[in-house]
Amino acid sequence: MSKKLLLKNAHIEGIRYFETYRKHGGYESAEKALKMKPEEILEEVKTSGLRGRGGAGFPTGMKWSFLAKPEGVPRHLVVNADESEPGTFKDRYLMEFLPHLLIEGMLIASYTLGSNTSYIYIRGEYSWIPDILEAAIDEAKAAGFLGKNILGTGFDLEIYVQRGAGAYICGEETALLESLEGRRGNPRLKPPFPAVKGLWERPTVVNNVESIAAVVPIIEIGGAEYSKIGVGRSTGTKLISACGNINKPGVYEIDMTITVEEFIYSDEYCGGIPNGKKLKACIPGGSSVPIVPANLLLKTINGEPRYMNYESLSDGGFATGTMMGSGGFIVLDEDQSVVEHTMTLARFYNHESCGQCTPCREGTGWMYKILKKIWKGEGKMEDIDLLWDIQRKIEGNTICPLGDAAAWPVAAAIRHFRDEFEWYVNNPELSQTQNYGLANY
Ligand code: NAD
Ligand code: SF4
Repeated sequence: MSKKLLLKNAHIEGIRYFETYRKHGGYESAEKALKMKPEEILEEVKTSGLRGRGGAGFPTGMKWSFLAKPEGVPRHLVVNADESEPGTFKDRYLMEFLPHLLIEGMLIASYTLGSNTSYIYIRGEYSWIPDILEAAIDEAKAAGFLGKNILGTGFDLEIYVQRGAGAYICGEETALLESLEGRRGNPRLKPPFPAVKGLWERPTVVNNVESIAAVVPIIEIGGAEYSKIGVGRSTGTKLISACGNINKPGVYEIDMTITVEEFIYSDEYCGGIPNGKKLKACIPGGSSVPIVPANLLLKTINGEPRYMNYESLSDGGFATGTMMGSGGFIVLDEDQSVVEHTMTLARFYNHESCGQCTPCREGTGWMYKILKKIWKGEGKMEDIDLLWDIQRKIEGNTICPLGDAAAWPVAAAIRHFRDEFEWYVNNPELSQTQNYGLANY
């Protein structure tokens, strides 16, 4: 059974409220941290090996240490709660049921970084959650954990919740900052990274909800203990939101030592595939990461079991592996059409492109149109090569990673399921039927 750090108290009734949260050890990590020097906390976070839980897996301690500290210039912590990656809903769970875990993590992180004004930028579709967060902020303030001179330390902190308006691109950290400043959410060129020039050109750390929540158990048990959980550079626990063709969709906390097979089939997690269907493929890290067929998902190319961690999922590179990403685990059974699935994603990325770069603005639209043509049984063999060519011209040629995120699912689908694309071209009259005789994956 995986160790629980973030969700260990999630089952307790009323844990959303300060009194219950506090009764079960809440804010004890903050009390401990506020007695430490910021440099000591930073060292604990570095030692823990915590990697950003939003998707990129960038070491959190390293990001914090990059924060510029010019004299007299305020700095900020911004929590990225714009969780919009299809298949990803773990941050929603944390904010809805454990809002004080996020606020406690923000207090520790803000104190470490020297931010007196910190923000939570939350996606517009999570319309009921800002009220939960704001109520928790009020409770924390009334108890002296926010506001002026927190616990008599002289440290002041205000936290504000800012609602987005439903744009996927505002989850990209620089688009998020633009939106927070009141402008259209167009990504900025990096560098400069936000750590140097972020919100209102001030040094800013942008961290995902889960990354900040993880700081609480790191302070509680110490960075060294945290680093012993998991394996290699995949330390600590990770939240996975599981969905698609599985018996038990939901949010699971894993310790990154379990195999993908165990995660899909064990009753502790997904509980297998409904109606005894076969596994066809999976997208383990949210829609932006490459789809992997069952044979490469359960085992690596060397025949080793594939594990639910950063290294093992990407083992073999993008050609065979995939990525841990945001932990949005989408399972496809033998009846699902990869062509249709890829078309749906292409439509999504085309709709969400901000339009600043030509390869992304035009390319995502082309890919969607061609995929739709193939799916409708109107495609030609050359269309598959054209699709391949377009995704290659998008990847690496755009301002922000949305371009790559649009290209990778198409590339992986063609690479691993080309015969399915060809089947659509060869069987136009059957193309939109559910069972197209391709259950061999
Ligand atoms: P990135 O690798 O460019 O950056 C990761 C983080 O490290 C950023 O905060 C960046 O500012 C920081 N960083 C990197 N190099 C730095 C340096 N030299 N100095 C200072 N800071 C530095 O990735 P990204 O664009 O932040 O994120 C891409 C990921 O987002 C994708 O892999 C995808 O999985 C994920 N994603 C998640 C969601 C979601 O809903 N959770 C949605 C879309 C995409
Ligand atoms: Fe906008 Fe797409 Fe360019 Fe990102 S890659 S800046 S979403 S056009």
